[in-house]
Order: sequence, then C-alpha cells, then structure tokens
Amino acid sequence: MSKQSEIKINQFQLALLLDESDRDFFKCSISHNVYCLNCSDVAKKGVDITEVYLTEHNDIRVHGRCKICNGEVRRLFEFGEEDRFNNKAEKLRKSLQAS
Ligand SMILES: [Zn+2]
Repeated sequence: MSKQSEIKINQFQLALLLDESDRDFFKCSISHNVYCLNCSDVAKKGVDITEVYLTEHNDIRVHGRCKICNGEVRRLFEFGEEDRFNNKAEKLRKSLQAS
C-alpha cells in the first residue's frame, strides 16, 4: 500500500466528506472546542477557518484564527477512524487525481 499524501481541501470538498452528524460535531467543535494558546483557553467566540487539510491518515486538520485574539489555532478531527468517512475520502482523492 502506497503512502497517501496530505492534501489541502476547500469548504465544498469538506462538505462532501461530512455527513450530517459529522457536520454537527464539526461545527460545534469549531465554535466551542478549539484551544487557543494565545488566550490560554478555548476560543470562546469560535474561530475563522483559513485552511483545511485531509491528512495522510484521512483525518481532517483545520487551521484558523481565534475570533478573540486573531491568534493561529489548529484542530485535528480524527474522522479517519470511521470506515464511512474513509470511503468518502478515498473517492475524493481519486476524483482529484483524475482531474
Ligand atoms: Zn485567542
């Protein structure tokens, strides 16, 4: 099995990967559960997402900015552990390779 590379995805591609419950969890986490090093607390006002990556393990890593201090924040979502998500991620990888 060849090693997969990490790819940058856009919001539209992210939306394709997430089903309804993933999406709720994702939105809730972005709004209430991203730790900001600068604030030494969770980013209580949420974060502005700047970049999203599909990692080599088919997890989702979000880069963003804390809405309070504008500091850079990151959050990893371990969706790659779910078969259903993995299947969608593989399809997305194939469609990106084809284009
Ligand atoms: Zn902050």
